[in-house]
Amino acid sequence: MAHFIVLLGPPGAGKGTQAKAICEALNIPHISSGDIFREHLSKQTELGKLADGYIKCGQLVPDDVTIRMIGDRLKQADCANGALLDGFPRTIAQAQALDELLRKMNARVQTAISLNVPAEVLVERLSGRWSCPSCGRVYHEVYNPPKQAGICDEDDTTLIQRPDDRAETVRQRIEVYQNQTEPLIEYYRQKGVLVGVDGTQSIEAVQHDILASLAGVR
Ligand code: ADP
Ligand code: AMP
Repeated sequence: MAHFIVLLGPPGAGKGTQAKAICEALNIPHISSGDIFREHLSKQTELGKLADGYIKCGQLVPDDVTIRMIGDRLKQADCANGALLDGFPRTIAQAQALDELLRKMNARVQTAISLNVPAEVLVERLSGRWSCPSCGRVYHEVYNPPKQAGICDEDDTTLIQRPDDRAETVRQRIEVYQNQTEPLIEYYRQKGVLVGVDGTQSIEAVQHDILASLAGVR
């Protein structure tokens, strides 16, 4: 059976950090809507330029554009076995569209993992976040530093800080999360697929809890 897993949580909750272990455990690809938008932006595509206008000010990219992009991604051959969705869905309309896309593939969201982290912790996490523009791996200057400051452990690329991780934009993103994305927790609870994980623990402890909650689906 295909494993479609949704990772929910506010910006900075640790979704990207936890993605690799989940994908390795279930042998599924990592689909991050934010990473796909940033890839488009670095290639200066029309979609990338459109998305950037919203990303810069901490707003969501419109549903129709985002749903089409993820729909195309899910049609690729590597998703036959499932996928880990990180940052999508972010609205009820996106969640309903995902259900419909998966229904056509004879699949459904099997588990939605909600990483719970209070807002006060998020600003500190995001202001210390450094990411690899090449492989997408994320670090934190205090909590998860690279072996050599400013350099990715995996591929030696120079790490960057995301422009939308500035404190003012982060506050806007958290508000958008609370208004538009938090209702998805109830959406998936009602479907009986929600698992809540305490995201304030160490990276290793969070990973342990997530993998334990997925033990039944493996
Ligand atoms: P998201 O993908 O949910 O926006 P990230 O995975 O990029 O979040 O994590 C945000 C920042 O917090 C990164 O700098 C990451 O290294 C750090 N981080 C992630 N999980 C933890 C944790 N459990 N404890 C402390 N810092 C963490
Ligand atoms: P992320 O990398 O998940 O933090 O996303 C960065 C930014 O990309 C968000 O603040 C949004 O502007 C945009 N974005 C990512 N995923 C979505 C989505 N599912 N719907 C709308 N906008 C999104």
